Formats: sequence, C-alpha cells, structure tokens
Amino acid sequence: MNSEEFRKFAKVIVDYIADYFGTIREKQVLSSVEPGYLQCLLPAEAPSIGEPWQSILQDLDKIIIPGLTHWHSPNFHAYYPTANSFPGIVGELLLSGLGVISTDWLSCPASVELELKMMDWLAKILNLPALFLNSSGGPGGGIIQNAASDSTLVALLAAKKRTTRKYLIPEGKLVAYTSEQSNSSVEKAGLLASVPMRLLPTDPEGRLCGPTLLRAIRDDIQTGHTPCCVVCTLGTTGTCAFDRLDEIGPICRQFDVWLHVDAAYAGSAFACPEYRHLMKGVEFADSFNVNPHKWMLVNSDCSAMWFKDTEEVKRMFEEEGSSEVSNVQFWQIPSVRRFRALKLWFVLRIYGVRGIQDHIRKQVGLAGYFERLVRSDDRFEVCTASMGLVCFKLKGPDDLTRTLIDRVSRRRNIFIMPYYYQNRLVIRFVICSRLTEEADVLYAWREIQTQADEQGGVEYGNTTKKNQLAISGIADVSTAQI
Ligand SMILES: *Cc1c(COP(=O)(O)O)cnc(C)c1O
Repeated sequence: MNSEEFRKFAKVIVDYIADYFGTIREKQVLSSVEPGYLQCLLPAEAPSIGEPWQSILQDLDKIIIPGLTHWHSPNFHAYYPTANSFPGIVGELLLSGLGVISTDWLSCPASVELELKMMDWLAKILNLPALFLNSSGGPGGGIIQNAASDSTLVALLAAKKRTTRKYLIPEGKLVAYTSEQSNSSVEKAGLLASVPMRLLPTDPEGRLCGPTLLRAIRDDIQTGHTPCCVVCTLGTTGTCAFDRLDEIGPICRQFDVWLHVDAAYAGSAFACPEYRHLMKGVEFADSFNVNPHKWMLVNSDCSAMWFKDTEEVKRMFEEEGSSEVSNVQFWQIPSVRRFRALKLWFVLRIYGVRGIQDHIRKQVGLAGYFERLVRSDDRFEVCTASMGLVCFKLKGPDDLTRTLIDRVSRRRNIFIMPYYYQNRLVIRFVICSRLTEEADVLYAWREIQTQADEQGGVEYGNTTKKNQLAISGIADVSTAQI
C-alpha cells in the first residue's frame, strides 16, 4: 500500500467510525450471533495474493459488526466504562502513525518529556500530593502503564524488594493484604510475585477498614511472617466501595508496609473536589493508580501510576551493584513504551479540566436518576449506589432477580450484569457510554420494569443458579470475571 492509497483507506475508515457512532444508538447492544459464527464466514487460509482494501470494507459490515458487543452504545451498562472519545481516537491514530517507541530520553525526547508533563497535569487535576509529581524535585514521579493490573504487580514487586532489602529476610516469609472485594488482578499479582495475598473481610458497606487490617498484620507477625504490601481499593469493581484509606494509611506507615492505592475506575472522580474526601489519607500511599482509559475519556490503553519514591521501584529491576539506572523504563515491566501521552494530551486539551469534570458529574447524575427510578418501584430494592454504579435487585429470593436478568439479557436491548454481593444476587447497572442520556436511562429502566411485569411473582426455584445464567450466555459472575 502506498501513501496515496493509505490516504484513501484511512479517510474512509475515519468516516466509517464517525458513521458508526452516528448510528450506534439504533444498534442492539448485544450481538445475536451464535458461538463459532465467524469460523465458516472466513476462508481457512490467509490470501496468497494481497487483496484491495475495498474488499475488506464489505467484510467489516458482513462479518465483524454483527459480532460486536457495542461497548459504546448508550445501552451498555455492564462492567465499568472503557474510555472512548474523538480526541482519544485521533490520539491513538496519531501515535500509531508516528510509530515511535521510547526507552531512554534519546530514543524519543518528545515522548519521554510529554509523558512526564502529562502525568504532572493529571496529578494536579486529581489533586494528588505534590510529592508524586515528576517536577517535585524529589524522588516522586509518575508514568503511564498498560493497565491497572500491571501497576499492582509493579507495586507489589517494589514492595517485595524494599522489604527483603530492609530486613534481609527470605522472600518466603512475606505476606500482602487486600480486601475480598478487590479486583481479581490483585490476587493475580500476588500469584505472579509469589507473595501470598490475604483477602481480608470488608465491613457491611464493602470497605476494608483499619482494625481488620491491623488484626491481620499482628497475627501474621506473631506467626513469623513479614507484611510487605497493602493494596487499598478506592472504588471496588463490584460495588464501587471505598476502602478506609484514612485508617489504612497510618497502619501501613506504622509497620513500614508499602501502600498501593488501586483507584482504577473511581480515581477519575477526584477531578471533582466534591469527591476528594474519599481519598483522605492518600499522602500515606507509596504508589497510586488510576485508569484514564476507564472513566477519563482516553482510549485504552492508558493507566496512570505514581510513586512516592521512584528509586525504590527502579531498585527492583536493578542488579545489586550495577550502575545507576535513572529512567522510566525501569518503572515498568515492558522494556519499551508507546507514545501514549499523545492521547492524554489531546483529551486534556480538547476537554479541559472543566470538560472532564462535566463528564464525571453527568454520569454520576445519570446513575442518581436511575437509582431514583429503582426506588420508585417498591418491587425493587437498591443495595448499593456509588459514583456511576447502582446495584439493585428484586425483593425476595435471588431466583426472582436471576430470572429477570435472564429475561432482559435474552432481549439484548440493554447489557447489565449479575454480581454476588454479601451472598445475594444483585444487578450491576453502570453508566458507561459517554453517549448515555436521561432518555437512555429511562429506556433501560422501562426494559427492566416491563420484564419484571411480565415475569410477575413467579419463582423459578427449581432451576439452578448456574443454569439460569448459562441460558442467557452470561457466566456466573463474581469479581473475578469483571
Ligand atoms: C478495572 C479494574 C482493574 C483492572 O484494570 P485493568 O487496567 O484492566 O488492569 C483493577 N482494579 C479495579 C478496582 C478495577 O475496577
């Protein structure tokens, strides 16, 4: 493909994307294809002679679009948002087009420096303590990681190194802590780093509190273990609960335990001053992570991570006695970095801080509207409501709610998720798409209500939980799968 063809092809695709967004509201959010649908639609082998790009376009409509779950449909209310915006799309296109990667400064000065600057902009937008800034003059700093999962692993590895260096103890004695409501990636980080990750119980609101952590730490010390890391979640994946960072922070300091804050989804809300009380105690954090690729309109991947002392994280990759390493490639697992700061720069400049705040407030407002709708129908109960997420259920046995989810899912007009919370089945309803408006929320609620009407009070008590969810093609969801 030459330059001229590239111009044509790429312009057509840009129009294609704009048209896709222009018509996404009319598309059914869940696809109706059957498993394996694509296998017989495509030849078994790649073409031996290259084809014109025009022939691929037709196949997009025929083969790919019908098999999409429309993640940016205003009727998508499952999981958490995955960010998407026009500035973010263009940023992703440009960074792919420029195609640079960076390691040290010389490998691409603009990429290295823009990233350091954007991380400072972002830290200031969220009102993080100044010691996290790249420009603080101290050892603090931040970079863009691939994902929150990587960030947790990096934090845990750094914590491990710090603790083993300090106490000169074998790694086998180390332990780490998080709550049973934390993201599955936290437990995975424990496995990858070979550090047992204790999943501590939460309070009735789904939060990890100080006394629970303190008890666990004391018990472990008594049995000869060495606590090395606590992963505190601000905005759990299941119900968007906020661990008591203000209680956890001082305990981590007292026992010299690395404190990592996982604010993958909800951290973006700290752009708005009215939510900052939820990160009280953030000054105790050794590392802090938020995903602009979730709730801040920057297309995936873009996960922001700050360290209080970047020397500690560099040390984990450093051979003892080796020469000083001083650049950001040692704050991460991959050896090179894409120019992801471009996306962040585009989004922050085109939306402005005000635009980001408006986006967060609008989505929280829409969730509040949905919550009021649920509360207005006395067949339902709201179990939790936080940020853009409402968890609710039909009053009565779980089977009623299970049947409702199943009926709604089979119609494919809206996408909602079951979740087990405190041994009860609830429906997670999240405001995900930036296109969702009040009318879409009302539409979703009517969809749920009508199915509840038709279902009546009948209870399908003889079908097992697994079967019911299997019918709708939805797995038995626990935090592990979200
Ligand atoms: C979504 C989520 C994650 C995982 O994020 P990735 O960037 O996909 O790894 C981690 N923690 C919390 C609290 C989340 O909501």
